[in-house]
Amino acid sequence: MMIARCKTLLHERIFTIPAKGTFVMHPGICPEYRNSHGCFWALANDDPQRVGVTLLQIDKGVDTGPVFGYYGCRYDEQAESHIRIQHRALLDNLHGIQQKLLEIEGGTAVPLDVTGRASASWGQPWLTRYLRWKYRARRRQRKAKPMRAVSLLYHDVVPRGEADTSGFPGLQASRYKLEYDDFCQHIAALRRVITSKPVTVFEAIAASNGVRPLMLTFDDGGVSAHTAIAGILDRYGWRGHFLITTDYIGKPAFLNEDQIRALRRNGHVIGTHSGSHPRRMSALGWEELLEEWSRSTKTLSDVLGEPVTVASVPGGCYSRRVAAAAAASGIKALFTSEPITTSHHVDGCVVFGRYTIWRGMRPAMSAEFTSGGFPRYEQFLFWNSKKVAKVIGGDAYAKAINWVLKR
Ligand SMILES: [Zn+2]
Repeated sequence: MMIARCKTLLHERIFTIPAKGTFVMHPGICPEYRNSHGCFWALANDDPQRVGVTLLQIDKGVDTGPVFGYYGCRYDEQAESHIRIQHRALLDNLHGIQQKLLEIEGGTAVPLDVTGRASASWGQPWLTRYLRWKYRARRRQRKAKPMRAVSLLYHDVVPRGEADTSGFPGLQASRYKLEYDDFCQHIAALRRVITSKPVTVFEAIAASNGVRPLMLTFDDGGVSAHTAIAGILDRYGWRGHFLITTDYIGKPAFLNEDQIRALRRNGHVIGTHSGSHPRRMSALGWEELLEEWSRSTKTLSDVLGEPVTVASVPGGCYSRRVAAAAAASGIKALFTSEPITTSHHVDGCVVFGRYTIWRGMRPAMSAEFTSGGFPRYEQFLFWNSKKVAKVIGGDAYAKAINWVLKR
C-alpha cells in the first residue's frame, strides 16, 4: 500500500506498483468536488455538507478512483482560510483515516457507491468568490444567535482573617477572597437552584441545546485552588476553571506545577490569566498583549503537556484588542468580567462575560446570578459606572479604591 501526498499526478507505472493500491487524502468531497481545491469550491458554493476530505484510491483519472471514506470537521468560516480548513479536515481525522487504511489493508473495506452523483473537476480559487464567501460568513455570524451562559468569577477561598495565605496580598485583592465557610454556603445555594452540574467551557461551546449552562471560574492561581476549592468541587463531581497568572507559579501563596497538574488530572480546566497580571491589560500595546498571552499559554502547556486554549482577562480590563491578541495566541475561549450572559466571537475566540463574587456577598447571590433577576442588573449597572470611572480616571481610579478601602 502507498499513500500519495503530492501535487503532481503520478504516472500509472508508479501508482500501480503497490499490490494494495495507492491512496490519497483528497481535499474536497468526490465526485462533486474533484481536483485540488475542492474545499474552497464547496465553501464558495455555500455547500457546507461537502467541506471535507475524501479517502480514495488513485486510478487513471483525476480523483475518479474508488472512494473509501469522507471526513469533515468543525471550522470557523469567518476566521479560517480554506487552506487551513482543508488541513484541519485532514488532521482532525487522522485516527479515522488510519482505521480505514487498516481495513483496506486487511481486505475488509468496501468502496462507497457514488453512482448517479454529480461529478465535476474544479480549478484554482477565484478572489471574487473568496470575498463573497467571507462576506456571507460574516453576515451569518452576525445574525447567529449568541450563545448564552452564566459564568461566575471567584478568586481565592481563605481561612477567616488570613486573606494573604492565597493569591495576591493586600487589601484590594482581599475584597475578592471568600472565607471558607462562606464559599461552602455559596456552593450550597447554587446546588439548590441548578438542575444540572456546572459545565466546562468546552462542553458549553459544543452544546447548542438552548439550555443556559453555568460555569465556575477562579482567577489568579492562588494556592487555595488546590488546598480548599478543588476539594469542595470534587465532592459534588463539579468542574471548575482555574485561570493562572503564570509568573507567580511556585511563589508563596500561589499554586506550584504539581498542584496545577493535580487539578487538571481531576478534570478541571486550566487556563491563563496572563503572565504578569498587568494593572490595565487594555492599555498594553499589541506586541505586549501577544507576549502576555503567548508566553503564559506556553508555560502552562509545558507544565501540562497539552495545549492550553482558555484564558481570563486580568483586572477586568477588556477590549476587543485584548481578545484579538488572545485569539492570535491560540486562545479559543476568553472570560472577561463584563456582567453579561451573552457570548460573542472575536477572530474565532469565544468571549464570555462573568459575574464577580465578592467577600461578604450573601451566598444567595451566587444562586441569584444563576437563576436570573435583580442582582444581575445591579451588577451590570455597577460595573458600567465603574468602567466609566476607569476610562476617565485610569490609575487614579485604582488609587481611589485603595484609599476608600483603607478608611
Ligand atoms: Zn486577577
